[in-house]
Amino acid sequence: MRTMLFRTVVILGFSLAIVATSAGASGPAKPQGTQLPWLKESATKLETELVAKYGESQRARLARGLMQVGSFWRAEDGEAAVFEEFVRTNFAGDAQTLDTMFKRFQTNLEQIDGHMLEINREFRQQSDLDLGPILPFDELFAGYDPSAHVTDDFFQNKLAFTVLLNFPLTTLEQRITEGEKWSRRQWAEARLAQRFSKRIPAEVNLALAQASAEADRYIAEYNIWMHHLIDNNGNRLFPAKMRLLSHWNLRDQIKADYSGDKNGLAKQRMIQQVMDRIVTQTIPGIVVNNSNVDWNPFTNEVKPASVVDSDQPPNTSQSGKAPTNAPEPNTRYAKLLLTFQASRRIDPYSPTAPTLIARRFDENREIPEARVKEMFEQVLASPFVPQVAKVIQTRLGRPLEPFDIWYNGFRPRGTYTEAQLDEIVSKKYPTAEAYKKEMPNLLMQLGFTKERAEYLANNIIVDPARGSGHALGASMRQAKAYLRTRIGRAGMDYKGFNIAVHEMGHNVEQTFSLNNIDYYTLQGVPNTAFTEALAFVFQGHDLELLGLAKQDAKSRAFKTLDDFWGAYEIAGVALVDMAVWHWMYEHPNATPAELKDATVRISKDVWNKYFAPVFKKRDVVLLGIYSHMIDSFLYLPDYPIGHMIAFQIEEQMEKAGNIGPEFERMALVGSVVPDLWMKKATGAPVGPEALLTATGRALKQIAP
Ligand SMILES: [Zn+2]
Repeated sequence: MRTMLFRTVVILGFSLAIVATSAGASGPAKPQGTQLPWLKESATKLETELVAKYGESQRARLARGLMQVGSFWRAEDGEAAVFEEFVRTNFAGDAQTLDTMFKRFQTNLEQIDGHMLEINREFRQQSDLDLGPILPFDELFAGYDPSAHVTDDFFQNKLAFTVLLNFPLTTLEQRITEGEKWSRRQWAEARLAQRFSKRIPAEVNLALAQASAEADRYIAEYNIWMHHLIDNNGNRLFPAKMRLLSHWNLRDQIKADYSGDKNGLAKQRMIQQVMDRIVTQTIPGIVVNNSNVDWNPFTNEVKPASVVDSDQPPNTSQSGKAPTNAPEPNTRYAKLLLTFQASRRIDPYSPTAPTLIARRFDENREIPEARVKEMFEQVLASPFVPQVAKVIQTRLGRPLEPFDIWYNGFRPRGTYTEAQLDEIVSKKYPTAEAYKKEMPNLLMQLGFTKERAEYLANNIIVDPARGSGHALGASMRQAKAYLRTRIGRAGMDYKGFNIAVHEMGHNVEQTFSLNNIDYYTLQGVPNTAFTEALAFVFQGHDLELLGLAKQDAKSRAFKTLDDFWGAYEIAGVALVDMAVWHWMYEHPNATPAELKDATVRISKDVWNKYFAPVFKKRDVVLLGIYSHMIDSFLYLPDYPIGHMIAFQIEEQMEKAGNIGPEFERMALVGSVVPDLWMKKATGAPVGPEALLTATGRALKQIAP
């Protein structure tokens, strides 16, 4: 699925009289524009002049607007006379003009967003859909983003300044504390202004993109050739040609090895050892993405490969030399530092969210970091952790080992085999059209009325996907939402159907939250976790949609324990990610080696506090293995928040007893702050309570 990963929302916290509770948490803002020597005098003059024209009631709005415009105005935008003329012409000093302006911006922004997305979708057609070979230029089309320069253009033509002159920038604290009392129109105005709350110079954005791409490349090529791992008895535990990408494939191999392979445990221990060496950078540099050497990750001995299992050419930089086990030179941490340094360059252009940390929490997630941390700690320190650990230990028949943070044996084995399900699905859905035709019925089974089901189905186009499937919503009401689903030679298979139902959930949310929303700038949901949670609601009913019995209570209880254990693990990982970013900001000139030491120490600290008491082993560094830590700019906290939100929404659906109308009601709340959204949807702010309650219930069900 493709949804907004991080909405570009920004805040500025000017301490103005009309800003009732100026957040101020980040200290006084230093708007760049105030450096222009004439600005203060011009603003004073304009305030007097325009208050005389429009009345005293407009003074506060005007002062705010002047401040907001001034903070983004650069010398190249024009001299004092240009600034003054701009303000005189564009300040909406009466309610009627302001109303017209607000409505027109809503209409026109919908047009530009909507059409840009249309271009983007069309340009990606060849790479997204199952349409035959992709030629090199198709990839360039797919990578082109026609909207990349819209914000720059809007500052240049001064449409952005028009918004900043007339509508309020707000702080997260305001949106949280005052937002509950705001009207929908006030919310829509706040979101409108937020679109233009940052003006980052092109070269700073470019540097960020370059650092990001470099870190991505490093991560994307970090493969381990598994057949070349040798244990202490000289055995190769993994099959030929197996190449696993860190950390995803390595972790998933640990999960796969719970299924009863006689070497499963030995393989899991070996992967854990590999991960340890990656985090601590004691991994020999030469073994990364190289099938020309054999490596014992326990002794760290490296030898020329004594088997050939790839057509990879010999590594030229190493040929001729005997392989050494010289450690990777802290490259992992050098790449992370690059993303940090590039992020720091944005800081001066983001006065009240002056760190990447603040931007992630206050702007993208819109939940204060302190609260997020508290929610994670509630899960990590929950009394259910040792109880679930005990269940796992009993099921494994051995004491827990650190890699059991990835235990996946709770996954219920269904009544039907995958092959049986494939057969049922392929018969029912031989083509994308067959799914399209059945969609109204599927939606009615999910509790939508006939009228709603047909309305939704008419707004969703079904295409055969090249990949596993995704949902692409529209950005303007005259456009449709797209469901891309994988159709094999023999029709759809069960996995494809399961994904299609998930993506259909996205499409339904996208349809309601755009086409039926009251204000365009409130379209959507607060962030990705919300749309994912809504899609999971659909996905969880896939068996019923095939006319089969739904999961029984016990299978669902196991699924809950699986989710809880996953939330526990990823909350630990997220705390490490958060602490590492804090450390970097506290040590901006750190070397890669220093950053490595800090990351290792932080990983151990979090482990020792929340995991060691359960696993009976200290100083484990596994929580530092996630690749996101290196290339994803503090993205990891989104996962545990997502688990919590999913449970809250699921619980509400069960309470309502009927998905259709409840889903529509929730989707219409729009993109307000997460806590307000959740209160409107379920009556409580975002939090771990629903997850914890469900876990307690599940424990009772499986161990009565
Ligand atoms: Zn999704």
